[in-house]
Amino acid sequence: MGGEVGFTSTVGKGSTFWVEFPATQAIEQKVAAAEKHQDRLRDMDRSSNRAMVLYIEDNISNLDFLKEVVRRMGNVNFISAPTAELGLSLAEERQPDLILMDINLPGMDGYEAMKALGSNDRTKDIPVIAVSAAAMKSDIEKGASAGFEEYLSKPFNVSEIIETIDRYLNADGS
Ligand code: MN
Repeated sequence: MGGEVGFTSTVGKGSTFWVEFPATQAIEQKVAAAEKHQDRLRDMDRSSNRAMVLYIEDNISNLDFLKEVVRRMGNVNFISAPTAELGLSLAEERQPDLILMDINLPGMDGYEAMKALGSNDRTKDIPVIAVSAAAMKSDIEKGASAGFEEYLSKPFNVSEIIETIDRYLNADGS
């Protein structure tokens, strides 16, 4: 059976026999595995409590770039959508803490998407930042009146984008 048997003796009290079977070890392994599973669940829980950024952008290079920037921030989950239509349903479903919105998108553009987010109870309180290559004073003013919190110009300034994301994610204590 591969188990071990032994005994200890104490004068006047008799002997205690102990037996250890492989079955005991199997139970210990199961307990250890269960504990490991618990740890993993706790980690998942922790990561689901992490702040989340949604980036709605149809340009792959911009998407990849920002994804890398956010990944390096270390404690932020990043999700993205290549169209406003998909972005709106992702925002409603996943409830990100911050949305970065490209203005020039195929189909619905960033302004229409902003309007849709603002008229949906499930998304109206999520801060939205416009990101666009068109960043003249008139664009920025138009963005502000459309309800965008800020207006970032492309190509990205890395420290500006990190500082901005950080500011919004820390604003609600998350
Ligand atoms: Mn675009």
